[in-house]
Amino acid sequence: MKTYAIAAIPGDGIGSEVIDAGIEVLDVLQRHQGGFSISVERFDWGSDYYRKTGRMMPEDGRDQIKHVDAIYFGSAGDPDIADHITLWGLRLNICQPFDQYANVRPARLLAGIESPLKGVTAADLDWLIVRENSEGEYSGSGGRVHQNLPEEVGMDVAVFTRAGVERIQRFALDLARTRPRKLLTLVTKSNAQRHGMVMWDEIFERVKGDYPDVTTDKMLVDAMTTRMVLDPKSIDTVVATNLHADVLSDLAAALTGSLGIAPTANLNPERRFPSMFEPIHGSAFDIMGQGIANPIGAFWSAVMMLEHLGEPAAAQTLMAAIERVTELGDVLTRDLGGRATTRDVTKAVCDAIRGTNSNGL
Ligand code: ATP
Repeated sequence: MKTYAIAAIPGDGIGSEVIDAGIEVLDVLQRHQGGFSISVERFDWGSDYYRKTGRMMPEDGRDQIKHVDAIYFGSAGDPDIADHITLWGLRLNICQPFDQYANVRPARLLAGIESPLKGVTAADLDWLIVRENSEGEYSGSGGRVHQNLPEEVGMDVAVFTRAGVERIQRFALDLARTRPRKLLTLVTKSNAQRHGMVMWDEIFERVKGDYPDVTTDKMLVDAMTTRMVLDPKSIDTVVATNLHADVLSDLAAALTGSLGIAPTANLNPERRFPSMFEPIHGSAFDIMGQGIANPIGAFWSAVMMLEHLGEPAAAQTLMAAIERVTELGDVLTRDLGGRATTRDVTKAVCDAIRGTNSNGL
């Protein structure tokens, strides 16, 4: 029987609440499904670790997890520690050196969930957003000079490399090819940003020629926000830069009901390093410690992790269990208009797993 080693890094805020829930669900799933097992090792890295050690994770942290099959991540963020320290010290300190350059964010309306967009049904909103995850606006390049003086200058330099752009575009084209509509939208801002963004456009013109079966179109990022709201049905797969896709996918999550349900995968497609799976929401300080966080984003991230591990039947069972709960609609957290707790939803999904099989419900 195959055993998968998972490094769980619950992190901060509601991260630990939803990842604990996810581990519980995975445990029930492996027993129910059979054929594989999951061995979870927890790492207490994050802001409390920073308070004790001055670091978000140990210096040899990546060595400790580089051999695992996947990383299951919660969130990094703390009201008392600057965001750039928590983000760069943990999440980006894993994503970047592990070359998880493809960030995949599905957005679709789950059974029973209503979009804030009037009249939009599940058939109208089924997107896959691919975010470049290793360079661009979040390359970390830049600096500050004359600090705290009136003439202070702060610069963030967006770094786009031909290799980085081509590999993410090819990844997105490959993914679009596996979807029924085989449609990919390239999002840039090449009217105003006339260097790196124009390079994105040029590379796309060339690379898409290798994918004659994929239909492509191009949008400027501002126009894309309008299209997402006014014509969601016209969108299928999307590829965009680190910053643009970050923003678009938060909008996508809101349009599919709540930030609390959206998952993401940070992939190293070549599998030279482990990939990392996490809900797209952050630490959500406003609700942390109350036991009311929606765990569905963490569960759906576990579905993506199972797909990546090569356990599609288990992934399907878990997704079906999640949608059984959302469809019934009586055990939903507050962000989805219900009154249930994280515990209630976790229990409901575990019960649904026990009542399901890989062929659905
Ligand atoms: P970060 O800076 O780490 O991204 P944040 O608090 O700015 O954190 P989020 O954590 O993404 O941003 O939260 C934004 C809003 O969405 C908050 O009001 C939060 O309560 C709500 N929210 C996010 N995730 C969940 C969840 N899983 N369940 C319920 N509400 C959530």
